[in-house]
Amino acid sequence: AFGRNLQLRNTREALRLGEQTLTQRIAEIQSLQAKLQDQASRDPLTGLYNRRFLDTIAAREIARCRRENQHLAVMMIDIDHFKNINDTYGHIVGDQVLQQISRIMKNSIRSSDVLARYGGEEFVIVMPSIDLTNALKKAEGIRQHIESVRFNVDTFGRSIQITISIGVASFPEHGAEYDALVAAADSALYKAKEKGRNRVESP
Ligand code: GH3
Ligand code: MG
Ligand code: MG
Repeated sequence: AFGRNLQLRNTREALRLGEQTLTQRIAEIQSLQAKLQDQASRDPLTGLYNRRFLDTIAAREIARCRRENQHLAVMMIDIDHFKNINDTYGHIVGDQVLQQISRIMKNSIRSSDVLARYGGEEFVIVMPSIDLTNALKKAEGIRQHIESVRFNVDTFGRSIQITISIGVASFPEHGAEYDALVAAADSALYKAKEKGRNRVESP
């Protein structure tokens, strides 16, 4: 009987340890899963959200603003003559400029705004609960901020000025759905480029 008791105690102990290890493993898997999910929604170069993630979240934000009778702004931002930067200073410097501009933009928006790298040197910001007048002011602030920064482009301390053009579309006046708003912001951006760049336009 003594032997049986000892055996039972040992089995229980082994079971307890096994359970502990399992709980630990599950926690590890869950944290890894969260990390992977975050990675899948971000652009590796800039750390900003990617287009796919923005598309999912934007539709949700618009639905919310519609329910709550709020405005929402979609900004399409494109770096002016970015090809020149690559051609003159190389791709590495071009990448660094993209990273710096991303950081500046990230720091000039609210945590409720969603900033994403939309394409190569194109960015989109979805700003919930802001009307066109205030969105234009916000965009103008970002434009001026970028214009005022001097970007280092080499080890000799040389720096350059970089400018951006921004198209701003507003919900609901420029579109009832996300796709229409993006198209409106894009055509406003085109207008900003046509008018000479380094400016903010709305449709
Ligand atoms: P515009 O003022 O009309 O916008 O002129 P642009 O030169 O900025 O526009 P264009 O579309 O002709 O060029 C965009 C350039 O952006 C070309 C492409 O090589 C560069 N680019 C896109 N993605 C990246 C990237 O991840 N890294 C670097 N270094 N360059 C990129
Ligand atoms: Mg472009
Ligand atoms: Mg460009």
